Amino acid sequence: MQYKLSKRSQIIKGQSEIRAMTLACTARGGINLSQGVCDTETPIPVLAGAKEAIDRGDNNYTRLDGIDELRIAVAQKEKAYKGIDVDPHNEVVITNGATGALYNAVMTLLDPGDEVVVFEPYYGYHVATFLTAGININYVRMEAPDWDFKKEDVINSITDKTKAIMINTPSNPCGKVFSEEELLFLGEIAEKNSLYIFSDEIYEYFVYDGLQHISPASLKSLKERTIIIGGFSKTFSVTGWRVGYVIAPSEITPLLGQFNDLVYICPPAPLQHGVTVGLNTLGKQHYSKLRDDHFELREIFCSTLLKVGMTPYIPNGAYYVLSDISSLPGENCKDKVMRFLDKTGVAGVPGYSFYHDNSGDNLVRFCFAKEKHIIEEACNRIEMAFKK
Ligand code: PLP
Repeated sequence: MQYKLSKRSQIIKGQSEIRAMTLACTARGGINLSQGVCDTETPIPVLAGAKEAIDRGDNNYTRLDGIDELRIAVAQKEKAYKGIDVDPHNEVVITNGATGALYNAVMTLLDPGDEVVVFEPYYGYHVATFLTAGININYVRMEAPDWDFKKEDVINSITDKTKAIMINTPSNPCGKVFSEEELLFLGEIAEKNSLYIFSDEIYEYFVYDGLQHISPASLKSLKERTIIIGGFSKTFSVTGWRVGYVIAPSEITPLLGQFNDLVYICPPAPLQHGVTVGLNTLGKQHYSKLRDDHFELREIFCSTLLKVGMTPYIPNGAYYVLSDISSLPGENCKDKVMRFLDKTGVAGVPGYSFYHDNSGDNLVRFCFAKEKHIIEEACNRIEMAFKK
């Protein structure tokens, strides 16, 4: 039988590179630095909180905006960490991961034919979420090594159909941490053109080099147009739990909640309790340890890349590094990354996965959120292979 697939399913097909590299890596018994799965152990209070919730019988649907305790804990965190006043009862919706949060925001605020500004290199799910919803994307290039962008590129990317600017700070895949000056500039543009700012802050605690994570919602009057997208996958190493949140003006949140309800009903109830316990009991040292541990991993891994001539663009945040593969043998980007996997046993993601054109062809992305001994082993393998 001939299956006639939707146009949007053709868009999704292109997003499978990371999973494909994972399969290729497994087949070769390699070290998988392609997928953004954090190896750090889940904090015990988070696990205990979820187990206790199951045993207590908290196993049913929750409210469509999530449990009170978690919304309150999220609002407290936003105030303490970013200085943002958030009303937990009207401005927070607990969602199925940051992924669900963006999806709900797109469904609530955008229509097919609308346009969104996306900085590239980008996170593929952002782009796929927009494209499958019929939203057109105007790309603004961030250039290595500092991943700066030109103000005029942003200005020129706005048309009368543009409805939002998507930012990801700290960013996957390049680790850019947007500065206050950049955010104020984007805020000015957003205000002038009545745009929303979608701000994916899932890596909010992974910031290095003395920089600070800043949310646009904490600046001037930008909170009223900022949709914060966040989650616990990275902070508590629970990528499979699917608990995140969206923070938005109270006029919007009821509908955001209804879209979450429509697709998922709610994030798993006991897991909402688990992350609540984490937020309420883990002290500052949990977050500073996350930062310090990943900083150390960054240093170890990037020094190996440098040694073998694959210039790393040192990330200021998140836990990925884009590295230059122009000196590697191979016919094209995919071929180079596959040969690198064959030669070293270490898998990365071909750079074109993060660009809408061929600008990423000389790049590979590695994820360094692994246990230290795994990163050391990966470094060892790379250095040995390049010695031969
Ligand atoms: N946003 C960014 C920028 C990511 O890199 C990822 C995961 O890699 C996600 C969102 C996914 O978050 P969640 O697991 O909460 O859906």
